[in-house]
Amino acid sequence: MVDPETGERLDDGLVLWFPAPRSATGEDVAEFHVHGSRAVLGAVMRVLGRLGLRLAEPGGLYYGWCDRLTGILAHLEAAIDFPDEDLPPEIEHRILTETAELVAEIERHLTDERRGERLRDGIMIAIVGPPNAGKSSLLNRIARREAAITSPIAGTTRDIIEVAIDLQGYPVVLADTAGLRDSGDEIEAEGKRRAVQRAENAEIRLFVFDARHPAEAADAAAWPGPDTILVANKIDLLPPRAQSPRGRANSVMPGLDPGIKGAITGLTDGGEGVDAHGASPWAEGPRDTPGHDDERLALPQETIPLAALTGEGVDALLTALGERVAQSYRIEGPVLTRARHRQALEETVSALRRSLSAFLPELRAEDLRLALRSLGRITGTVDVEDLLDVIFRDFCIGK
Ligand code: GDP
Repeated sequence: MVDPETGERLDDGLVLWFPAPRSATGEDVAEFHVHGSRAVLGAVMRVLGRLGLRLAEPGGLYYGWCDRLTGILAHLEAAIDFPDEDLPPEIEHRILTETAELVAEIERHLTDERRGERLRDGIMIAIVGPPNAGKSSLLNRIARREAAITSPIAGTTRDIIEVAIDLQGYPVVLADTAGLRDSGDEIEAEGKRRAVQRAENAEIRLFVFDARHPAEAADAAAWPGPDTILVANKIDLLPPRAQSPRGRANSVMPGLDPGIKGAITGLTDGGEGVDAHGASPWAEGPRDTPGHDDERLALPQETIPLAALTGEGVDALLTALGERVAQSYRIEGPVLTRARHRQALEETVSALRRSLSAFLPELRAEDLRLALRSLGRITGTVDVEDLLDVIFRDFCIGK
């Protein structure tokens, strides 16, 4: 690590780069693992500050607690070290009050976190697509299949229904959005706005469209890439020819039926061009020649044909979805990070509580040190110098 301006070497360290959206916060995240000396930390922080970076909020919160706890401990240590007297009552009182305040604050923080935990600890999957494509039917089907519905959450108006489920061992939240359709109706427009926003924020999108109207899939082009899974619903309504094993196999992942590809890229209008004789894009036909295979494999999005109504094909979707979700959990680790922070905070609180009921000042100080150490697991180490700082600053010792 070098200072970009002076070329001065700051440290040998490790930088871990987590590109968005697969980071703890969903943003681009870089972790700097550097040596824990003040000189190194100071130098690295100064350089980062020059680049316009500031300490993040949660870190700020933890640092604040750390500072206060260090202050409490320093006062106690100093008081203990006054050799001839008992602890001055006003210092003792102040230490107890400040410790109790800290306990209350950290506990409030832990409670707030838990409230949102169910949602935050699930990967968000948005079900999007045109009205009547079968989004709600699919949500119901998946929710029932997975059985482990923890909470159906009704959306406020006519916009979003969320269901937290356990998908092959991973917590996910399925969100059913309102139809993505332009409308003069103000409430509906608001529903659409929210749906689009939710879809954009979701980590994975299931874009559901009617298999008979592949032109509907064109809107999925707004979210290109592997995180949008195309779902061609209502295959039970396709003419029998399209449902033959070969026709079916041809329309399954990883490629997309040329008719749908045309609809998405706008090259052809595969949409309402389903004629009365059932020449659906899913049918085997002249278009379905081996020559198209390469083209299909190159497509970024996969299409899964299913019928939400009968349940056919839903298992294949769940398998694909499960793999995608598992991949996220392998890459991410925010759940783990959060769990570690939570554990550290819980340990901090119980050590602080012990210190409040401790008899001897020495034992109280020991509990405070343990609390500080737990908190330090989040903020980085708290060293002796921090303590000395406070002691020198607040007591003017040695000056
Ligand atoms: P949404 O507006 O996208 O949420 O669509 P819905 O889930 O409300 O479904 C619209 C209509 O399509 C309903 O009448 C469903 O019963 C019907 N539907 C949904 N999925 C299927 C399917 O796989 N096959 C058939 N035949 N009908 C379906």
